[in-house]
Amino acid sequence: MPAFPEAAREAVGNPTLRANLRHATHTIRDKRARAVAELDDWAALRETGKRIKDRTLRQLDTYLLQLEEAVTAAGGTVHWAADAAEANRIVTELVRATGETEVVKVKSMATQEIGLNEHLAAEGIAAYETDLAELIVQLGDDRPSHILVPAIHRNRGEIRDIFREKMGSWGRPAPEGLSDAPAELAEAARLHLREKFLRAKVGISGANFMVAETGTLVVVESEGNGRMCLTLPETLISVVGVEKVVPTWQDLEVFLQTLPRSSTAERMNPYTSMWTGTTDGDGPGTFHLVLLDNGRTDALADEVGRQALRCIRCSACLNVCPVYERAGGHAYGSVYPGPIGAILTPQLRGTASEVDASLPYASSLCGACYEVCPVAIDIPEVLVHLRGKVAEEGGKGHRLERAAIKASTWVLDHPGVLATGERLASATRKLHPKRLPGPGARQWTESRDLPELPAEPFRDWWRKNRT
Ligand code: SF4
Repeated sequence: MPAFPEAAREAVGNPTLRANLRHATHTIRDKRARAVAELDDWAALRETGKRIKDRTLRQLDTYLLQLEEAVTAAGGTVHWAADAAEANRIVTELVRATGETEVVKVKSMATQEIGLNEHLAAEGIAAYETDLAELIVQLGDDRPSHILVPAIHRNRGEIRDIFREKMGSWGRPAPEGLSDAPAELAEAARLHLREKFLRAKVGISGANFMVAETGTLVVVESEGNGRMCLTLPETLISVVGVEKVVPTWQDLEVFLQTLPRSSTAERMNPYTSMWTGTTDGDGPGTFHLVLLDNGRTDALADEVGRQALRCIRCSACLNVCPVYERAGGHAYGSVYPGPIGAILTPQLRGTASEVDASLPYASSLCGACYEVCPVAIDIPEVLVHLRGKVAEEGGKGHRLERAAIKASTWVLDHPGVLATGERLASATRKLHPKRLPGPGARQWTESRDLPELPAEPFRDWWRKNRT
């Protein structure tokens, strides 16, 4: 995967992608603004959500243990996974123990983060995505490009073609003569998925929230596919990031108001599914919760960066971001795209790779993401903080910068050398190139004019005219 600047350049050159993204993000952001404006106490809700999350993160260990106790008491089993490999291993063993070789999944970013589908496939287990957008991504052998609408980069015509060509090889084929009318596409997906829901014995889900006091998991969604996935199979395995815990039902109430308005611009999402362990004769008889760390406690240790763990994955920041709107989600090289991805991914994965080190720079720092965030994550602040870290570490692209800063510091500490340099630069100004050579400098000057140097340095002019 190339670093953000290269990946974004390719995306920006694709007019269909840009048009799809522009249309979708502008539609959602306008609707969201109207839905939020309906609430007089939006600012108070935002502040309360922020405080609840901060308080929970400060005592995360306590709340997670409380959650484990409650889930266990309700008949579930809790597993702790330090990283992606451990989580994948746990889930694979749990599926194997059922004797099944296929599972249905409801949209879960945590399982995408750990590459669960690929891992299961390598172990001979087929994982079927059931969220409509995820289904489109899976059938198209594609990658998600948006938190809420993973197939946002596809238009109706493209979706029809994917359904016609690929549905048959994954299960029930698309109906003959399928058009690109939304109702027909939705019906084709419904029939295709229904067959899988009725057959599957194992479901895998994520969760939007986990309530510590009762051990209840919560999934909010719009389609109802999630509810099928959570109730029909005999075994349910939920893979959830540790930061998704909230202490009480009263805390949950705040997020059930802010999440739907921020994400789909709805006053209330159509389906909110909640389950607490297992209940005889109702829903899955076996429930496993895999609590995923995978870099989250490292993020928690960073006093500025930890605010990214407040995120409730509403995607409002993506829909207002001028960089995301043009570059699209794939350019971020991570399951978390857009402004939140630019601060979360480098914290979860570290900044050793070129892709991750480039992410804090994938922003114009306009601040629109902070304005819309329902839990008031100061994304620009974290971006600048992470840029400082990346530059400190002196990774690729920053070695030159560090050397240049060191050299400039030395020159500025020696006024005689500085004055000689200024005179030399003025005397040779006709010979200066219009563009600077070298990586970084060349790109910088490709779109900017270098300032013209005066014929005489300021200090010489001052000495002649004012002393
Ligand atoms: S950072 Fe804020 S706006 Fe962006 S997805 Fe998370 S909660 Fe939503």
